[in-house]
Amino acid sequence: MDTISIAIQKSGRLSEKSLELIRSCGIDFYADSRVLKASASGFPMDFLFVRDDDIPQYVADGVADAGIVGRNEYDESGIELEVVRDLKFASCRLSIAVPRGFSYDGLKSLEGKRIATSYPRILSRILRENGVNAEPVVVSGSVEITVEVGIADAIADLVSTGTTLKMNGLEEAECIYRSSAVMIARRDMPQEKREILDRLLERIDAVMLARHKKYILFNLPSDKLDEAAAIIGGMKSPTVTPLMDRGWVSVQSAVDEGRFWAVFENLRALGAEGILVMNIEKMTE
Ligand code: ATP
Ligand code: ZN
Repeated sequence: MDTISIAIQKSGRLSEKSLELIRSCGIDFYADSRVLKASASGFPMDFLFVRDDDIPQYVADGVADAGIVGRNEYDESGIELEVVRDLKFASCRLSIAVPRGFSYDGLKSLEGKRIATSYPRILSRILRENGVNAEPVVVSGSVEITVEVGIADAIADLVSTGTTLKMNGLEEAECIYRSSAVMIARRDMPQEKREILDRLLERIDAVMLARHKKYILFNLPSDKLDEAAAIIGGMKSPTVTPLMDRGWVSVQSAVDEGRFWAVFENLRALGAEGILVMNIEKMTE
């Protein structure tokens, strides 16, 4: 039978979340992540553990059929593949940071300056789009020290909290690009492999959808049902079961996590009792 191979970062900020996502799809692997290759159990898939920078090229060459990588690495690679899902983890931003005292007033302030970055392709595209002429200084790591040592006037680097910048006397001036982990895939995948990938994606969607939903169950006087349904919103219609005690019903529904507390409080105010809230493991629309 056919299998697909998926490239995953060997060790770094993407590794754990990538494996966790795949595990929540009911797929596990035998070997530990120190080996290069591993087979999945319960799914026709192989894992390839590599450096994230190499993932787009491996997928392009067909060494792997798909891969999980930061959108920044994919865009920086300049390789054209199919981005099949935004996986929403490992979010970060590429930001311009300047030393304290640099008066920054938009990208124009970078005209003629040297900007250190590990993402010259992305940076150059954005500068070009904004009509700014600046000189990218390409460094592969420790971008934040380049101003201090005098090889750049400003930097463009990935930020998630901004603490590293502050420690190096820099201030985040402007976010110019946002990234999160994406699943990329070969464009020319044979039909059998494409079908396996689609099965994987269906599982990923079910897991991702469930992640920001809660399942809520409560008892309610039946004459309040319409109001409760309006509060819950979202889903087609809640499931309603009559209780032994006539005049009361048990209601269950999925609720968006972001709206959860508002829904909870409004249901309480409406007279809901015995509210039970559960995490959802998997879900389809
Ligand atoms: P490798 O050894 O595999 O080349 P790396 O050092 O290039 O690893 P990591 O630091 O593990 O890469 O980051 C992997 C990805 O995580 C980045 O490309 C980016 O998409 C994402 N990321 C999230 N937050 C941050 C952050 N604060 N700094 C850098 N990358 C981040
Ligand atoms: Zn890397």
